[in-house]
Amino acid sequence: MRYSIFFPMKKLLVKPEQKVDLRDYDPADVSLAPGNKEETNAKSEKLTDKLTDLQEVLFAEHKHKLLVVLQGMDTSGKDGTVRHVMRGLSPQSVRAVSFKKPTDVELEHDFLWRVHPHVPALGEIVIFNRSHYEDVLVVRVHELVPEKVWRKRYGETNDFERILAENGTTILKFFLHISKEEQRRRLQARLDDPTKRWKFQHGDLEERKLWDHYMQAYQAALEKTSTDWAPWMIVPSDKKWFRNWVVARRVVDTLESFKMQYPQPKINVEKIE
Ligand code: AMP
Ligand code: MG
Repeated sequence: MRYSIFFPMKKLLVKPEQKVDLRDYDPADVSLAPGNKEETNAKSEKLTDKLTDLQEVLFAEHKHKLLVVLQGMDTSGKDGTVRHVMRGLSPQSVRAVSFKKPTDVELEHDFLWRVHPHVPALGEIVIFNRSHYEDVLVVRVHELVPEKVWRKRYGETNDFERILAENGTTILKFFLHISKEEQRRRLQARLDDPTKRWKFQHGDLEERKLWDHYMQAYQAALEKTSTDWAPWMIVPSDKKWFRNWVVARRVVDTLESFKMQYPQPKINVEKIE
């Protein structure tokens, strides 16, 4: 692996070619947390401060590009994670990109066509809220294209991500893993809370019925697309405070491993009065 990772968290990474049975991963597991909820939140605050500094030097140095991919079932916390990771960041060099149902024009192209323009440039952090992985998830579950088309997409995705990696992009992929019961609670909360109701979509309950199909599709994606250059991390996400800490920790850890430095000034500042 090209970049280091906080040692205990390594066990959340999916190794290339590893078989994945999501039933082996407890979505409520917080055993890797650095403390209880309050202590962990305090650590997350510190990580946010670090991230503020790291983003500045990332932009100043202009040598690296960071792509964060978030995938997960409805209510798994993709939006919340975006909010958490981005607080403290300057909008100047961070972007969040959401991928919704493709338009007619997008559907007339290959599935990566709409994705490539959004990848990070030098010095940038980009967070994908859903991604090209929908094309082997919802598309597979609903058979939106024939199997022989989506089957090829695992390899095509690996090739695409390899191109990005070879061109200076570090790719961090997170599967936000919640339990079906936790999803029930969160969907209920969406119905009960007037400020959350807008998020509830009619299709959400229909999709929920396909839970097992989605788990199969996620497992296949995790098994086939965790590579040395773009590994997946399975984040136990029933507890939001733990999920936030894991993602922030991996992002900070990765940026720190770049050993970045502010560039030397182009002119001799000593002589300037
Ligand atoms: P949300 O993230 O709740 O705003 O919903 C976005 C919706 O777009 C989800 O239902 C996704 O499954 C759907 N979506 C995203 N990408 C694709 C895709 N490539 N093909 C079909 N549906 C997609
Ligand atoms: Mg939704």
